[in-house]
Amino acid sequence: MSSSSSDQDEPAEQPEGKPEWLDSFVQRTYFGSCELHEPPKNQLTKYCIDCDSPACFHCIDAGTHAEHRVLKIYRHVYKDVVLRSEMEKHIDCSKIQVFFPNLRTP
Ligand SMILES: [Zn+2]
Ligand SMILES: [Zn+2]
Repeated sequence: MSSSSSDQDEPAEQPEGKPEWLDSFVQRTYFGSCELHEPPKNQLTKYCIDCDSPACFHCIDAGTHAEHRVLKIYRHVYKDVVLRSEMEKHIDCSKIQVFFPNLRTP
C-alpha cells in the first residue's frame, strides 16, 4: 500500500512569472450583462481573480468578493484594458507587457 500521488491539487509553478488566472482573465469577455443582476450597473466591468469570473457592480456590492482580488476593467477605444497600477497590485507587470500592449499610463 502506498500513500503517494495525492498531491495533484497543487498548482504548477508558472515558469515565466505569469499567474495562472491571467490566461482566463484575458480570454474573458467583459462589458456584457451580468446574469445574476438587473440593469442598471449590471455591466461586467470587473474581474474577480479568486473566483476566476467577471463581476458587475452588484456582484461586488453584495460583498461576495469582499475578500477577493478584483480588477476593474476599462473600456478602451478598441480593447478592454486594465490600469497598470491595478495590475501591479497583483502581479509583476514588467513581465506581462507583452500580453497587454495597451497597458500603460498616458
Ligand atoms: Zn452581478
Ligand atoms: Zn470573487
